[in-house]
Amino acid sequence: MIYFSTNKSSIPVSIKKATLEGLAPDGGLYIPAEIPRFSPEEITLLDGASFNNIAFAIANKFIGGAIPPDQLSDIIDNCYTFDTPIVQLDRNTFVEELFCGPTLAFKDYGARFLARLTGYFAAEEQKLITVLVATSGDTGSAVAYGFQGIANTRVVLLYPSGKVSRLQEQQLTTAGGNVHALEVQGDFDDCQRMVKQAFVDPDLNKSLTLTSANSINISRLIPQSFYYAWATLQLKERYDCHDPLFSVPSGNYGNLTAGVLAKRMGFPIGHFIAASNANDSVTRYIDEGRYDPHPTITTLSTAMDVGNPSNFARLRYFYHNDHTSMGQDITGIAISDEETVAAIRSAHERFGYIMDPHTAVAFRALERFRSSAIHGEKPGILLSTAHPAKFLEAIESALGKEIGIPSNLQELMGKKKCATLISSEYKELASFLNGLDQ
Ligand SMILES: *Cc1c(COP(=O)(O)O)cnc(C)c1O
Repeated sequence: MIYFSTNKSSIPVSIKKATLEGLAPDGGLYIPAEIPRFSPEEITLLDGASFNNIAFAIANKFIGGAIPPDQLSDIIDNCYTFDTPIVQLDRNTFVEELFCGPTLAFKDYGARFLARLTGYFAAEEQKLITVLVATSGDTGSAVAYGFQGIANTRVVLLYPSGKVSRLQEQQLTTAGGNVHALEVQGDFDDCQRMVKQAFVDPDLNKSLTLTSANSINISRLIPQSFYYAWATLQLKERYDCHDPLFSVPSGNYGNLTAGVLAKRMGFPIGHFIAASNANDSVTRYIDEGRYDPHPTITTLSTAMDVGNPSNFARLRYFYHNDHTSMGQDITGIAISDEETVAAIRSAHERFGYIMDPHTAVAFRALERFRSSAIHGEKPGILLSTAHPAKFLEAIESALGKEIGIPSNLQELMGKKKCATLISSEYKELASFLNGLDQ
């Protein structure tokens, strides 16, 4: 499989190069030249398969050739040592809990896979890879934990000062070893802009081999399709539910883009809801056909506070720049903070289920979608992207009671923060990177 850039002016590359580069030289995002297909027979053959077997079947189509099957299978077993539970709320509504990995958020799926692929390819090339990542919270922690201790790699992560939860900040700043945290006096879009600039800085790229671990990296995106495939198969096997719709809490739209990949591969997905908070530039695009990103607005679902989502370039590419065709697969629904709080309460009252604010956005969006008569009865899956304990303050204030945190998080809270404070000027990032050991 070869990969080319959404901007179409870079030469096509192997998965190794796409993984190690992150962003294409023309500033575009890598996408597979062709999305591999699973025939209905191949999908039937996956009946009863474990999560890791499904993951391997998919990964092998994208990456096969670059990594021998037995090693790819080892990488997958090493990534997914945790469960992916699907919980039924009512007859037709399910939650896929993507928060059972080490950092309690769904980004572990992509980050752990990317880390191991990067380590594998870096060793092959005998290089030291510097992973540069902008984070609004969960990406950085998943990347820090994913790459921690992986040979031939080190991580520099940028996060917006004061715009992540205390627990997230602890996860970002305590990994140590080959992981460095930069606290940026700006917002997430500043962090993202600085990272993008570093990738096209010729001087810097002479001395360092930089790559990205943002969802712009194709090797973070591919593994996110695994849990869509898994959910469609589990729903069929366990509940005789078919062609579910997925409600996806969205920020940079990597999660949703991976869903589109899974659908195009042939997995039976009925429809997508792009559930956003007040940062609704994609939602408005789908409705109106005009992409007019606004500055980032701070909300309760902080990991989705993205004014100008990076994976929108891929989504647009997949739908040939046509918002009507995008709208046939994806309905965009924006949810306010007030509705988010009401949704946390309502899920708790009706189902005894505690949702984090991101999952609650997806829940409310699904309800609103269903209230339109056309879509009423389709089975729906909420992607639950974070463990409620990661957003303790928001949930406890919504529910008016304490929910407590798991013991591994308690331990984390006691660790010492280690971060370097910088302004949002690019030159400060460049000078930090130049100061690292060569
Ligand atoms: C990153 C994140 C999202 C948004 O995912 P994207 O792939 O950026 O759209 C949603 N919820 C949580 C908890 C996240 O960490």
